[in-house]
Amino acid sequence: MKSGLAVGVDLGGTTVKAGLVSSEGMIVSSAKLPTLAAEGPDAVIGQIEKAVRHLLGSTREQVLGVGIGTPGVVSYDGVVKYPPNLPGWTEVHLGEVLSKRIGLPVAVENDANAAAIAESRFGSGKGELNFLSVVWGTGVGGGIILGGKIYRGPFGGAGEIGHTTIKYDGPVCNCGNRGCVEAFVGQRYLSQRAIERVENDPKSKILELVNGDFNRVEPAVLSAAAEAGDPVARDLLVEAGTLLGVAFASGLNLLDLRLVVMGGGVSAAPEFVYDAIRSSVRERVLTPLKPGVRVVRAALGNEAGILGAAALILDPSVSPSGLK
Ligand SMILES: [Zn+2]
Repeated sequence: MKSGLAVGVDLGGTTVKAGLVSSEGMIVSSAKLPTLAAEGPDAVIGQIEKAVRHLLGSTREQVLGVGIGTPGVVSYDGVVKYPPNLPGWTEVHLGEVLSKRIGLPVAVENDANAAAIAESRFGSGKGELNFLSVVWGTGVGGGIILGGKIYRGPFGGAGEIGHTTIKYDGPVCNCGNRGCVEAFVGQRYLSQRAIERVENDPKSKILELVNGDFNRVEPAVLSAAAEAGDPVARDLLVEAGTLLGVAFASGLNLLDLRLVVMGGGVSAAPEFVYDAIRSSVRERVLTPLKPGVRVVRAALGNEAGILGAAALILDPSVSPSGLK
């Protein structure tokens, strides 16, 4: 880890979050701006630049560079390809453009990979050389840490555990395929399945919690309903955990890994969901690979994106992505 500061940027479909980060993983100051995604790539890059300049302020001499976590596949030369939720982006040379504008090195990485890097350097995966990192939220993102580095694959697209097929003729996923684990447990799909099961049930705790407004049914509501004893909510969440476990076991078997670190908005689920994941994983991981298999909660919450992006600069050995 280099000594100094780095700016970490977490580029999302609605918000650009940025932080000035120390080599110990402390966020010294932060900034938040709307992404302006609907206005296209130039507007979005302008917002990133604005957030970065705000943070640089008087500490510019101590800042080593800027790391960015973005949706989409990121090639080795910092080109962002087809990010979901960013309309008009086909292939954008984000690293190069931003580096020219602000005069500092810029490193770009996929957002789920950035979260994996953050947990590896500052969170639940600290000290672990090899693990699978999962971000359970709107979608199901993944990142693979191998030998203490992010595994990006030959073209930068590795780690898509969310698009592991768990039912070949299952529901259509956002990616266009059928039966991906994301198409069962991603936030929107999970909420939709909850609505289908309770819409005709006047005694549902889920409907009571949202005052009958289907638009407000989301995983946090399911968690609250399950904890209040609602059997439908509990069943749905146990089922989601079981299905996630099926995908995780495939990942662990494929890569000979023993640890899954899970974060993301939906990952704040009750412990019984983790128990369902763990028993599903234990059932399906090959016997010789079973000893020491663990599924743990990520430690860094909403800050993982910023911290992982900053780590690209503070510890460049973590990712071979193209530094501009
Ligand atoms: Zn998919």
